[in-house]
Amino acid sequence: MKIGIIGAGIGGLATAVRLAIKGHEVEVFEANAGPGGKLSEFRNGLYRFDLGPSLFTMPMYVEELFTLAGRDPAAYFTYERLPVVCRYFWDDGTRLSAYADKDKLAQEVERTIGVPAKRVAKAIRDSRRKYELTGRIFLENSLHRWDTWISKKVGKALLKFHQLDVFSTMHGVNKRHLRHPKMVQFFDRFATYNGSNPYRAPGILNIIPHFEQGFGAYFPTGGMHHITQAVYRLALELGVQFHFHQRVSSIQVENSRVKGVIVGECERPFDRVVSNMDVFFTYQKLLKDQKQPDRILQQEKSTSALIFYWGIRQSFPDLDLHNIFFSGDYQNEFSHLARGKICSDPTVYINITSKYKPDDAPTGAENWFTMINVPHNSGQEWDALIKEARTNILRKLSFNLGTDIESLIETEEVLEPRSIESRTGSHLGALYGTSSNNRFAAFLRHPNKTSALKGLYFCGGSVHPGGGIPLSLLSAKIVADNFS
Ligand code: FAD
Repeated sequence: MKIGIIGAGIGGLATAVRLAIKGHEVEVFEANAGPGGKLSEFRNGLYRFDLGPSLFTMPMYVEELFTLAGRDPAAYFTYERLPVVCRYFWDDGTRLSAYADKDKLAQEVERTIGVPAKRVAKAIRDSRRKYELTGRIFLENSLHRWDTWISKKVGKALLKFHQLDVFSTMHGVNKRHLRHPKMVQFFDRFATYNGSNPYRAPGILNIIPHFEQGFGAYFPTGGMHHITQAVYRLALELGVQFHFHQRVSSIQVENSRVKGVIVGECERPFDRVVSNMDVFFTYQKLLKDQKQPDRILQQEKSTSALIFYWGIRQSFPDLDLHNIFFSGDYQNEFSHLARGKICSDPTVYINITSKYKPDDAPTGAENWFTMINVPHNSGQEWDALIKEARTNILRKLSFNLGTDIESLIETEEVLEPRSIESRTGSHLGALYGTSSNNRFAAFLRHPNKTSALKGLYFCGGSVHPGGGIPLSLLSAKIVADNFS
């Protein structure tokens, strides 16, 4: 069959690979000049930066693409496991290294914060148990097929439903089990992995720590963009055709069946079409005349981000690849986000790839990807908010690192909700599509296939199973597994 894919984000690339392996003739249309979408890179002077994602977990979903194609993954894609996943800083001087080794992490927590190691070990075990009961079923399968629901695994999960904490919030569960405010904050933070709010997201999302502690966190040899490059190379080798600078303006439909796409003035006929474009805009811009799934499209969006890409002319031995400087009042931070605002003491995340890839910055300097969570765009006065946030971030970092950071900034670029939308097509600049702030969120995310329009499929972070690289890769798997 002839397949047209709209968008060369990681979900679109992985879908192209999977469908090409199945013997289909695949063409990908991408509005930007190259592949990757959010998973791209750029340079500013002598500094290189990954544009969006910085944390890489579950590399097996990337590798699977190469094995399926009969290739050795290592010939295309290499990465290393991080011994320390993240360094955490609190304003009172407490510092904690989150070791990948869970026993070492539990001991570190006992040493630095005074929480008994066995309490932390239990929280990590609980996370794993939740993942084992539900993760694979709900993340690797369509929720819209009856055979998913009658499997033995679902039966087992339903029998243990009471252990899944569906009716508590993540924060409620963490507070009950971990008790110490710093440890609760440490575990609550995992809600931000998919742009959710720990004070509202259901306790089942406490499966997320297992992604980091159980599967590990990794650094791709050439930086995050290496993931895009490797999968793109594989797609080319499999005969996928790419058309860059080609924005699809419409999906053609006849008698409820998809017939192809329109690019510029050209009609491009296809037997099947897969949209990797944000699902909201797919309906709003490309399927204007079709019935819109309003309830699904109106779901609450995930948070967005404000990022300062700073070239910093000094190196900081206390910092690692991933660093978090916690807000003094986490609940206040999330209550601001929920009201579309940014608090004056936000949690600051710094990712420094030059720690692992020294040529990302000049000698003695570092490339800081400095990010805070911000609400998605609802028409705020962004220019004023960004200016204020920049001052607050610099104050916090200078205080914690004992140096005036502003005077070390050599180059600067900014990404914020409006530019996330214009550069990657994410509705309102949401990083992860819809939020997971309520227990029905997983069921209200758009499916990977629609029964309303035959021959139309969806992949990427705005549809099932959700945002983030691993889940976008899984959306491609679900599309390919359910292709007919
Ligand atoms: P996208 O990357 O959204 O790409 C969609 C593509 O479609 C774009 O290239 C766009 O140009 C193209 N397109 C849109 N409309 C059209 C059209 N009409 N015609 C042609 N082409 C079109 N995930 C993680 O796993 N770890 C992280 O640490 C992490 N951090 C993040 C930080 C930031 C700042 C951001 C923005 C995201 C982060 N994410 C992270 C989320 C992750 O980047 C996304 O979930 C994932 O990359 C989404 O991929 P996608 O397949 O949906 O495609």
